[in-house]
Amino acid sequence: MEGALTARDRVGIQDFVLLDETTETALLSNLKKRFSKDLIYTYIGTLLVSVNPYKELDIYNKKQMEIYMGVNFFELPPHIYALADSAYQTMLTEFNNHFILISGESGAGKTEASKKILQYYAVSCPSTTLLNTVRDKMLMSNPVLEAFGNAKTLKNDNSSRFGKYMDIQFDSQGDAVGGHILNYLLEKSRVVHQNHGERNFHIFYQLVEGGEDDLLHQMGLERDCQHYNYLTQGECAIVSSINDRNDWKTVKNALQIINIDEINTNHLFGTVASVLHLGNVQFDSDSKGHALLNNNNAELRWVSNLLGVDAHSLQEGLTYRIIEAKNEQVLSPFTTDHAIYARDALAKAIYGQTFTWLVNKINESMENKDNSRKTWEPVQFFNNKIICDLVEDKSRGIITILDEECLRPGDASDLTFLERLEEKMGNHPHFVTHKLADKMTRKTLERGDFRLLHYAGEVTYCVVGFLDKNNDLLYRNIKDLIGQSKNAIVKECFSSADPDSRRRPETVATQFKSSLLKLTEILMAKEAWYIRCLKSNESKQPGQFDEALIRHQVKYLGLMEHLRVRRAGFAYRRKYEVFLKRYKPLCPATWPHWRGVPADGVEVLVQHLGYMPNEYKMGRTKIFIRHPRTLYATEDAYER
Ligand code: ATP
Ligand code: MG
Repeated sequence: MEGALTARDRVGIQDFVLLDETTETALLSNLKKRFSKDLIYTYIGTLLVSVNPYKELDIYNKKQMEIYMGVNFFELPPHIYALADSAYQTMLTEFNNHFILISGESGAGKTEASKKILQYYAVSCPSTTLLNTVRDKMLMSNPVLEAFGNAKTLKNDNSSRFGKYMDIQFDSQGDAVGGHILNYLLEKSRVVHQNHGERNFHIFYQLVEGGEDDLLHQMGLERDCQHYNYLTQGECAIVSSINDRNDWKTVKNALQIINIDEINTNHLFGTVASVLHLGNVQFDSDSKGHALLNNNNAELRWVSNLLGVDAHSLQEGLTYRIIEAKNEQVLSPFTTDHAIYARDALAKAIYGQTFTWLVNKINESMENKDNSRKTWEPVQFFNNKIICDLVEDKSRGIITILDEECLRPGDASDLTFLERLEEKMGNHPHFVTHKLADKMTRKTLERGDFRLLHYAGEVTYCVVGFLDKNNDLLYRNIKDLIGQSKNAIVKECFSSADPDSRRRPETVATQFKSSLLKLTEILMAKEAWYIRCLKSNESKQPGQFDEALIRHQVKYLGLMEHLRVRRAGFAYRRKYEVFLKRYKPLCPATWPHWRGVPADGVEVLVQHLGYMPNEYKMGRTKIFIRHPRTLYATEDAYER
């Protein structure tokens, strides 16, 4: 039909493997064409590429879910439901374990993608009353984890500040029978410090804005975020896209569903409130520069009250350190700077431990209680934003050097850390400092800076505070004191945390490395499905396709490499039944029914379509097709 637009012209190509040319430009123009029609999903074979639309699309409802249930991956327009469904179906037919890896930069849509998948399973998996409760808990774990682990950053108003890996356990009938979450490295430094334009974790604002009058009164809180030092540094406590009051209600309801009882809920909010009060504890200094704090200080009393620890001991713990020398204990006074450091370390530790406690509680509530129903643990999620940031080769060197510097006795400081970096990474093409830079670059760097060349451009870091951030150490006397807390959550966390408190604690960076190893082990044993999320623009605007930004991400996420690999081999493989079912109308001998075995029907069909012998191979259960254009021609014939 001359003049008529083909499907390909109208909505672009659904699978990059079918593009005529394998260039970045062709890929980008196809993405753009689709994005302009609100088609945010495109495949590269079985990999799903998703572009954040920054607007609600009417493609995530129950009706859409039903369309995708049990349908072959390539038969319908690309969708995250198709990928979720395929992972699930493959698990059921092939009896193996799968995981879904979601990657992309901050704000690209990883968290949203994982929620869509969870919602899909909640609807599509068979369910009984018992299983419904597991399902509800999985769904409800999200708002709770987001309240405590997400925050507004410059890049994303709901940025996940922890790495998450979620496991759903299915039984052999495909029923979801349990779940488990592993969390990685919460960004604890955010509790005490936020950059301009960024917020602390959502829960603090939810409590202050949404908490009931009685509750706030009991915990000595004012209904005013501006009152709290830990909430005001970013100067953006109120954000138009966030409704803290509504979110508070959602979180409270979700806590009930994940079986956190009233007493624990009170203790939980008590720890959150204690952190806010801690942030307002200020120190004076005496004539020698030592920190002074009166144990009648109102904020200190609230902290001691909420944590259920003695005010005097707390005051001592925040202003003195115990030094042990030859069986003697000596109290050594802090300077005010040191006291602030101890206070912040305590706030970070309380919050971090509370977060871990919460994840454990969620896990308990989702635990598969019926052992007879466990056969395997298949579909996995893994939100790897933080991992990507930290594991890039370049920064791995940095982590190691940072750890060495933190653990080195003597004069280690931020500047010696920088010197060490210059020594060990000076030759690295992606690393530059003021000292190493050429004349032009030097003008753009301060003395304490180092700069890394990331995928999306250069990022400059200032070493000030690096050692402290990594050295997340809590003094032993405070730790012992908090271990006796009357707040059950705090007591549980601190008395079990480190039985040998004299042992040198792991630094943030090493904790991260060991959890990563554990994760790698888990993932090695499973089959992978990939989702690559792309951010469409930096200003969170609907409909804007920032080509340069997307090109960077296409490079960083290795989409072209993936595409080439896909096209080089037999790009397509499909089960005989599926292939036959879809294309049988194209051949009189197979339409409307093929009476023999499906493999023979497929052979007849492709002969009829004129496939060349080197173009395809007949496998045991599937047909393999070398060139996408072969399948494309077939698909075109089908559409006509
Ligand atoms: P981070 O690494 O910072 O946690 P992320 O990749 O998890 O980022 P999300 O929080 O999932 O990013 O997405 C950021 C925002 O983008 C969402 O709050 C939402 O407004 C929008 N968004 C993401 N995906 C979609 C989608 N499929 N449809 C509509 N809006 C979306
Ligand atoms: Mg996220």
